Amino acid sequence: MTAREILVHPDVCLKQTAAPITAFGEALATLYTDLEDTLLQAPGCVGIAAPQIGSSQRVIMIDVKNSEYGRLLLVNPEIVRHEGLVRGREGCLSVPDFTGNVIRADSVIVQARDKHGQEQELAFSGFEARVVQHELDHLDGLLFLDRLISRRHDLFRRKVYKDKMPPKA
Ligand SMILES: [Zn+2]
Repeated sequence: MTAREILVHPDVCLKQTAAPITAFGEALATLYTDLEDTLLQAPGCVGIAAPQIGSSQRVIMIDVKNSEYGRLLLVNPEIVRHEGLVRGREGCLSVPDFTGNVIRADSVIVQARDKHGQEQELAFSGFEARVVQHELDHLDGLLFLDRLISRRHDLFRRKVYKDKMPPKA
């Protein structure tokens, strides 16, 4: 399929609450491959949410290096348990010029469906838990910018050449 254009803040699609998926299988196939193609084409990308490519539906893809799950598609994901709080730096494909410090749960249990509609429950911790929470926010129209405690102290301009970290999601 095709890598799609990544919408950038303040695009209105990024502020919407995404709709749950009700039809699985073929109906989801294009969105799945477009998400994957877009993710693979974006350097340093560890996660992407359907609203970022203009599709206001509750689908995210996570692709964290060395993950026990590998590249993961989560449909209608919901956090059913969370533990701990940790502050960490985040970047976002939709906020290309900045990174920010955000407080997230240290570990989460997520219920979601896979691309066939099969229910699954997955545990995430550390960086991968952060990425999942970041992508879930996209489904509710939230960006990491909305979670900064202080714009003055927690928002950083991304350096164009050197600052490859943190990855974008
Ligand atoms: Zn993002």
